[in-house]
Amino acid sequence: MINPLRGMKDLAFDDAKKFNYFLDVASNVAKNYGYSYLETPILEDTALFKRSVGESSDIVNKEMYQFIDKGGNDVCMRPEGTAGVVRFFISNKLDRQPAKYKLYYHGPMFRYERPQKGRFREFHQFGCESFGEASVYEDYTIIELISTIFKKLNIGYTLEINSLGCKECMPAYRDTLVSFLDAKKENLCEDCNRRILTNPIRVLDCKNPNCKEQLADAPKITTSLCESCDRDFEKLKSLLELNGIDYTVNSNLVRGLDYYNKTAFEFVSSEIGAQSAIAGGGRYDRLVEFLDGKPTPAIGFAIGIERVMDLIEVPKQESSGYYFGAMEESAIDTIVKIAKDKKQDSRVYVEFVAKKLKAHLKGADKIDARFCAVIGEDELKSGTIWVKDLVTKEENSIKIEDFLKQ
Ligand SMILES: [Zn+2]
Ligand SMILES: [Zn+2]
Repeated sequence: MINPLRGMKDLAFDDAKKFNYFLDVASNVAKNYGYSYLETPILEDTALFKRSVGESSDIVNKEMYQFIDKGGNDVCMRPEGTAGVVRFFISNKLDRQPAKYKLYYHGPMFRYERPQKGRFREFHQFGCESFGEASVYEDYTIIELISTIFKKLNIGYTLEINSLGCKECMPAYRDTLVSFLDAKKENLCEDCNRRILTNPIRVLDCKNPNCKEQLADAPKITTSLCESCDRDFEKLKSLLELNGIDYTVNSNLVRGLDYYNKTAFEFVSSEIGAQSAIAGGGRYDRLVEFLDGKPTPAIGFAIGIERVMDLIEVPKQESSGYYFGAMEESAIDTIVKIAKDKKQDSRVYVEFVAKKLKAHLKGADKIDARFCAVIGEDELKSGTIWVKDLVTKEENSIKIEDFLKQ
């Protein structure tokens, strides 16, 4: 017997219903906000992720499904969605257009990490990326979009926001932070010590409880913002307040790469074990340039679909469509023919075994059909079909040609 690989799983039945329901809701909200669907390849040049996700990150260092293909190309199964979308944007020269582009995507992502609850090696993300809009109103709007998705899905969250500054104000902050960290070096974990040299901002993100304690009074980026970053951050907060979206400022919410700037945010749920992020994103005004495109302001987010699966309740579907049955062997051909017609625009189930009426009614109930339609001896003689509406309980014998027109 061959089983799925470790950390990978099939999606079927109730989970598949939840998954599709999530995609329906999220896609409709994205479309309402002006986003159009984009599908990029799962397999990309490894260099794309090395450059965008960063060579110092765990994802690129330890977790990529990377291999040499039969043509000798170094390729990688995408570990996240943004890089491919930005690659699409640049390889189609959209960075040379004055227009603004809003794209949404969803699909499987792959990371070779230790599988644990809610974390898989193949997982799915839904995300939006907005290109060409530098206004902080766009930062607010994308947060509003996510909050609309969660509201429609009845998923509770807390929103955490931060500002990561820009190339004017971040370097000075980084120097201040490094001096602070250097003084605490001995009391910080190995990872933190390595990051002081490679990526000091990421130290703020350390999950080690001892490090957290040591970092409690670390200098905050939000107090060192330049005028433009400060103005935007204040505006973002006031827009959230004005529109009734609760938030907290988390100055340890960071993303460790140089092309991230200004707004960063995370939607956190406390309903799936420990506090964990169900959506995250922010502004990345320098990534397009970083991947050889023309400088283009951009902001985006991704939702981890497996993370929210347990929080999704699919609304009870109303019964719909037809159940067809025959009470005589000789009527089966007729019901198959009628069913073919009805299948053009209704959900249809056909029972191929002749049965008593009671058994057919039971069958119709089981598949949640709205109508149970049966042909027996009498109906065969009169060219009719017996139809029961299982909701109103109304029942009638109807001429087959009239039934087909209904
Ligand atoms: Zn700044
Ligand atoms: Zn640490």
